[in-house]
Amino acid sequence: MQDWVWYLDKWNMFGWLVLVIVLERLFPARPGKMLNRGWGYDLIHMYDPWIRSFIIGAAALLLTPYLKALPFAGVMASKSIWFNFLVLIVVSESTFYAVHRATHKYPLLWEFHRVHHSSSTYYSLMTSRFHVLDACLFAIPYVLVAAYLGVRGEALMAMSVFQGFSDRYVHGNIKPPRFTGYIFSNPTFHSWHHSNHPEARNKNFSRDFSFMDWLFGTAYYPEGKIPTVFGEPSYPVNYFVQQGLPFYNIYKRFKGKPKAAPKHLSAPVSARATPELIQSPVAER
Ligand SMILES: [Zn+2]
Ligand SMILES: [Zn+2]
Repeated sequence: MQDWVWYLDKWNMFGWLVLVIVLERLFPARPGKMLNRGWGYDLIHMYDPWIRSFIIGAAALLLTPYLKALPFAGVMASKSIWFNFLVLIVVSESTFYAVHRATHKYPLLWEFHRVHHSSSTYYSLMTSRFHVLDACLFAIPYVLVAAYLGVRGEALMAMSVFQGFSDRYVHGNIKPPRFTGYIFSNPTFHSWHHSNHPEARNKNFSRDFSFMDWLFGTAYYPEGKIPTVFGEPSYPVNYFVQQGLPFYNIYKRFKGKPKAAPKHLSAPVSARATPELIQSPVAER
């Protein structure tokens, strides 16, 4: 059992990464390179999760005893693995969706989430490009609700393997089967969220499944079109600068001084797209 978990963990760390790059070469949505600006730093984001793990683990250790005292705590422990997995999908998608909308709505949260949106190329290696605090903000509600419900370890492991693939796949420069966008947040669906096209503002907040966007009216999935303009070409790609810059920008914001980045790039993505940056989406090939 321990061996099996060890191999699965290693596959999660390295196997999906290679498989999704292969899919990008086989089914590209747009002409593109395998390695883009900042790819080396993107690997640091991918393989340097210890600060995140420490903060998330500390939050779980501190708060779980209080959650365990609440009514219905641990209710999932006696249920089947499949039911646990289904509940975990709902927990993951609903907490992610709520936090994600908040990160786009509130300027202080946006400064941290902006790191994830900074890549001007849509490709799988930028999947893990997150500010540490932004990543924790997304993960902590998921971990706490799962701990409160007593979700079984097997379901948590299965979700981790599924998301190991899905998170990379949705950020891939890949042309997916169209019908999958009505079930999953596929690469076309999520690429609209990262785009600078005004028609896609504040759309497609989902993580792996798209039902939250369809339910709450924030889905944007036009037929026959894909986005072409992404991110902020002037945002630094250096991992360490990316961890510090949000604090600097927030300091500037409080001081009322101009931001480090050009003015048209400093607002939440909902207000960020400008005519200079916008190009028409292209028809799918
Ligand atoms: Zn976002
Ligand atoms: Zn993304």
